[in-house]
Amino acid sequence: MTRPILVAGNWKMHLLADEADALAIEVALAAGELTGPDVAVFPSATLIGTVRAALDESRVTLGAQACHEAAKGAHTGETSAAMVADAGCTAMLAGHSERRAAGATDEQVGLRVRAGLDAGLRVIACLGEQLADREAEATNAVLDRQLTAILAEIDESDLASLDLAYEPVWAIGTGRTATPEIASEAHRHLRARMVEKFGESGNEPRILYGGSVKPANVSELLAAPGVGGVLVGGASLDGASFRALIEAAHTGRGS
Ligand code: PEP
Repeated sequence: MTRPILVAGNWKMHLLADEADALAIEVALAAGELTGPDVAVFPSATLIGTVRAALDESRVTLGAQACHEAAKGAHTGETSAAMVADAGCTAMLAGHSERRAAGATDEQVGLRVRAGLDAGLRVIACLGEQLADREAEATNAVLDRQLTAILAEIDESDLASLDLAYEPVWAIGTGRTATPEIASEAHRHLRARMVEKFGESGNEPRILYGGSVKPANVSELLAAPGVGGVLVGGASLDGASFRALIEAAHTGRGS
């Protein structure tokens, strides 16, 4: 089954409630008019209630940026997957490079993917290499290591609720975008690993690209073979720019 292209906005640690409310309303309007792609937003935890209300009756998916791997317990400052689901999220990011940089290990990312799936969330599991890895021609080895930890926690029945996001760390928030060829090569590698593990079902999760995606480059990235959507930080924080991303995906990948 081929899923629609997904345009996902990671709002990171940005926006206060009235700003998030206004942006969510703009995204909901755009998604209502441009019905081709799936659309999702990932606000910070404190904004989930506000954004949930703003997205009411829209088709935009509301997701959390992270969760702790434990179901509950003495983890001050953390949020469980069940908590974000209870707050109204139906999706979650796991393993974003900014969480990995803050200390999340491959193993924890795998456990967080599991926690999200167990809470009934759709999980976008992020992975990608550092610039030094690419320069050392270790990109595929890093992707394999990160993917292996995720695959250790899932089975075939989870694939319907999973997407991957290839996000080369050197392209996140840097303005430096991977070429469509670089994106395709990594996507091809990840897809091959998925099919190796799950057979035909390994084709089910979308593989998104993330890293300085903006209206000016989204069309060529979506046209790259294997790219099933985009995970966008900076360019998802402005209503007009988010709409342009959805529009590019809506008009046949804009190509
Ligand atoms: C991200 O947050 O996942 C991301 C890709 O950020 P940016 O688009 O700003 O590079």
